[in-house]
Amino acid sequence: MEQDGFIVVLRDSERLEDVPQYFLDKYLLEIDKTIDGLQASLWPLNNFIHENPELAFEEHKAHDALTHFMRSCNGWQVTTSAYGMETAWVAVYDSGKAGPVVSFNAEMDALPNLGHACGHNLIATASVAAGLATAEMIKRHDLPGKVVVFGTPGEEGVGGGKIRLLEAGAYKGVDISLISHPGILHNSPLVRTTAFARLEVEYFGRAAHAANSPWLGVNALDAVVIAYNAVSVLRQQTMPSDVIGMSITNGGAAPNVIHAYAAGVCVIRASSASRLQELRQKVSACFRAGAEATGARVEIKIIRGYADHVPNRVLAASYTKYWNLLPDLPDPRIPSGDEYTWVKASTDQGNISYAMPSVNASFAIPPGLQAGQPHTPDFEEASGTKEAFLRALRVGKALAGTAVDVLRIPGLIDKITDQWRRDMDAIKEQRIDIV
Ligand SMILES: [Zn+2]
Ligand SMILES: [Zn+2]
Repeated sequence: MEQDGFIVVLRDSERLEDVPQYFLDKYLLEIDKTIDGLQASLWPLNNFIHENPELAFEEHKAHDALTHFMRSCNGWQVTTSAYGMETAWVAVYDSGKAGPVVSFNAEMDALPNLGHACGHNLIATASVAAGLATAEMIKRHDLPGKVVVFGTPGEEGVGGGKIRLLEAGAYKGVDISLISHPGILHNSPLVRTTAFARLEVEYFGRAAHAANSPWLGVNALDAVVIAYNAVSVLRQQTMPSDVIGMSITNGGAAPNVIHAYAAGVCVIRASSASRLQELRQKVSACFRAGAEATGARVEIKIIRGYADHVPNRVLAASYTKYWNLLPDLPDPRIPSGDEYTWVKASTDQGNISYAMPSVNASFAIPPGLQAGQPHTPDFEEASGTKEAFLRALRVGKALAGTAVDVLRIPGLIDKITDQWRRDMDAIKEQRIDIV
């Protein structure tokens, strides 16, 4: 039986319908074998990163280990300390023939006091495995195009390593970006994350004796309290997917003075970058209300967070196809149809998804004893297990299948780009789904 140029030899007792579909997809079969063949070298690398957690932009050991490994692979051009960041790196495998440029992002950073409790070691493993398997397919099947693996530092906090790479031009000419993230709840390539920003507010009043001559003062603390209350009132009129948190970071001086200075911080989250913008304006209005009521001068500093992640449906369809074809399908299943998986967290891959078609696939690893989610000690332990590593390899296979589809199926990149343009237009016009 010949299908897509690949010959399946059936034994006498076998009928075609009994042959698992997986064996009929020659690329997937080869990707599967390629990544299985890398297991022995990727496991120590994954383990090394997990056991040597490093904070955002300090991922020196991970940077050195990963670039050393990529350099040992045939045909890869590796740039260390790329684009002005010591721990960023780029590895390129070029077919030498014009075609799509596919890319994978490899995160490396850990959390303060929690080690790899976000499982970024697994993200690096999945992306490196996918990059290598894609290159192998280019080599074996004479495919056109290029594959790039980016070592992307500083995802945790508001580091935004990918935003810095984007702004430095690292993704110029890159057609698609693929990445994954571990958790314990979902297997899904249609992941939407929240957009977030941080607003810092300061009020400058005038000090006066609180008993003697309070009428000479301008109370900055009152301004913060009014702002806090205004934000609390605003919360009733927000959307279910909006989140506003506020704290008072400076509540004035001694109680017997009129406070000359007070300050607060708001962190806001929304389902899209445009909704975040609206929310930002509403919260800023609450801040100004405090100033208006008291006469204090207000200064608002907006610290850019991350955009929401907009997944590309065409890329996600390839991912789902390969995930489901691979043997030993794990639970939970990828939701059927076009259902989004909403994750109330933020990532700088969101900003990438506004620059080019992107998939940020969630994958479930076997949970720890307390079924701890990311950012817990339990998840830190779970993300260091062999089982979690094997799940990351499965992700790498599905990601490689997706990238190889883009390189080998004529016109697929145009469909992907059209879908991305439609998504961006929908967001601009606010035709977005809200949970
Ligand atoms: Zn995290
Ligand atoms: Zn993370």
